[in-house]
Amino acid sequence: MACGVQRALHFSGGVMKALVKLKAEPGLWLQDVPMPQVGIDDVLIRVLRTGICGTDLHIFKWDDWAAAHVPTPLVIGHEFVGQIVQLGSSVKGFRVGDVVSGEGHIVCGHCRNCMAGRRQMCDKTQGVGVNRPGAFAEYISLPQTNVWCHAPGIDKDVMAIFDPFGNAVHTALSHNVLGEDVLITGAGPIGLMATAVVRHAGARHVVVTDVNPDRLALAKRMGASVALNVSTQSLAEARLQLGMREGFDVGLEMSGNPTAFCDMIANMCHGGRIAMLGLPNKPFAIDWSLVISNMLTIKGIYGREMYETWYKMTVLLQSGLDISPVITHRFAYTDFEKGFEVMSSGDSGKVVLKWASLSA
Ligand code: NAD
Ligand code: ZN
Repeated sequence: MACGVQRALHFSGGVMKALVKLKAEPGLWLQDVPMPQVGIDDVLIRVLRTGICGTDLHIFKWDDWAAAHVPTPLVIGHEFVGQIVQLGSSVKGFRVGDVVSGEGHIVCGHCRNCMAGRRQMCDKTQGVGVNRPGAFAEYISLPQTNVWCHAPGIDKDVMAIFDPFGNAVHTALSHNVLGEDVLITGAGPIGLMATAVVRHAGARHVVVTDVNPDRLALAKRMGASVALNVSTQSLAEARLQLGMREGFDVGLEMSGNPTAFCDMIANMCHGGRIAMLGLPNKPFAIDWSLVISNMLTIKGIYGREMYETWYKMTVLLQSGLDISPVITHRFAYTDFEKGFEVMSSGDSGKVVLKWASLSA
């Protein structure tokens, strides 16, 4: 997966199409904006495809979280694949034409964690498409430290969703799942990808819960032993159906829903290990006595490990993992409103927007 040598080429001035959060109100605006600046350590990338994330939906709808975190005007979006078209003069290890994605967390490089090589734990992370210009545009400029060069042979749509795929892999591989019984709460795109990952990584039973029948059907397709609709069935029933004598060894919380998390801690084995990715929208209470008396470990997960998770994503795909069924809709970027509409409905997996093709 090594990228080639540096080669210079010049793109400057002019305008490009971009999806802009123009005003502090619901909506997104397709506009001409200036081409991004390319500093000496930056790489200019022509965007080929982008994925719509739940975060983009928050920004589109302009909820309280978005209003508190996102400056306007801003080009949004952070899930993408593209092709390098220009290299800053200090960039090494990349060449024009490389097919790349971007790590959406730009770290400070100077805090204790950054200095220790734990960049995913940076104290002062900036978010691409959240508080600095994003990828829903014809071009994006990123520091070379945030560029991941793809191995050949990976489907472009899958490359476009490496960011959320990385959330799934980071969470799913946080605890050993080989031969273990795994509970995944939430069959959104990330829970669905995590289902395929733990199955690939050798889990025995994989129970996936949601309240959306379409997503549960997808969970079956991604390798769930049981896809459980918790609005009509209980985890106790699923455990009985699978002949499980003890609780789940590993829990992956991917819904952000308090009830799902409370059910999870009540159904873990003694010594069970939980990785928590889902973001609840407000604080909630849990039965701490279960955590203590059942000796549970709970680990919070944010983003992706830089860049071990990216490496693992690549080798998982190279060793036969297939996450492509999670991509259910594809639109041209000019039809972005349709993409956001289907995402809002919940009747989708990942939605990919096409900006250009490799031959364009
Ligand atoms: P999503 O909102 O598409 O999926 C969440 C799913 O949970 C939905 O399908 C929903 O129907 C389901 N759900 C609701 N109530 C449930 C319940 N009681 N039991 C089981 N499932 C229930 O989100 P996503 O894009 O797949 O992301 C998953 C979660 O991870 C979200 O909470 C998101 O905010 C969070 N997230 C965290 C990070 C991070 O770095 N920590 C990064 C990306 C996303
Ligand atoms: Zn830092």
